[in-house]
Amino acid sequence: KEEPLRKPEWLKIKLNTNENYTGLKKMMREKNLHTVCEEAKCPNIHECWAVRRTATFMILGAICTRACRFCAVKTGLPTELDLAEPERVADSVAAMNLKHAVITAVARDDLKDGGSVVFAETVRAIRRKNPFTSIEVLPSDMGGVYENLKNLMDAKPDILNHNIETVRRLSNRVRARAKYDRSLELLLRAKEMYPDIPTKSSLMIGLGETKEEILETMDDLLANKVDIMTIGQYLQPSKKHLNVLKYYTPEEFNELKKIAIQKGFSHCEAGPMVRSSYHADEQVNAAAKQ
Ligand code: SF4
Ligand code: SF4
Repeated sequence: KEEPLRKPEWLKIKLNTNENYTGLKKMMREKNLHTVCEEAKCPNIHECWAVRRTATFMILGAICTRACRFCAVKTGLPTELDLAEPERVADSVAAMNLKHAVITAVARDDLKDGGSVVFAETVRAIRRKNPFTSIEVLPSDMGGVYENLKNLMDAKPDILNHNIETVRRLSNRVRARAKYDRSLELLLRAKEMYPDIPTKSSLMIGLGETKEEILETMDDLLANKVDIMTIGQYLQPSKKHLNVLKYYTPEEFNELKKIAIQKGFSHCEAGPMVRSSYHADEQVNAAAKQ
């Protein structure tokens, strides 16, 4: 077995916790809500929650019907659908005074609507209680059922984000059930349903892709009318997950960002710590200025 690569200096940062953050964590437990920020131990949590006022909620339970090989979310039989969740999320967005809320969900392949009705209701509830908060949705491919996507798009989020995650060649190995072309199609269909709603997609790198493959993914996303791209370093959540095969340097990320903009994305975030929802508040503004 290969020795794991050593983490480079630029990734060794300390998790910054302060009182504000601890209070918010407590509120999440009381309201029985889950955030990707906490569950993925995201290193940006202090900056996002306290400074930028952004957070990523994970709705429809904390157990996913899929088991992607890069993802730390638990797999298994999902919990019952919680119909009161939309209001609780909306209340937390208000309590956190969020400028930008990202709503994602585990893949609910057990539900006919893929969870899209509760997902859409969450967007509406946030909007009702927080008219000035921008809302980004980050659904799974919802089984490639486009009525489900339509349910969600009809709630008019400010950004539709669906992650391509990895390059075409590695897709089947890295993602469970999701397919590269189906993700591209979902992004295009969302754009066709609501041309004014910006679409966005994220790529994790460090899984063995070549530079040519990264550039090809950019072209594929652009061909499917994606406006915003984010590129971040894959980090292994545990030893059971896929190994990191390369740590890209900050310079390499900068170069990729430059290329993405030259190729035609309206906005691109790229960096070792960039996550799909990182600096998402800026992207709404960038998209609005187009
Ligand atoms: Fe949460 Fe995303 Fe910010 Fe990480 S980058 S703390 S997941 S909002
Ligand atoms: Fe994780 Fe999403 Fe894959 Fe489920 S579908 S295992 S939440 S990446």
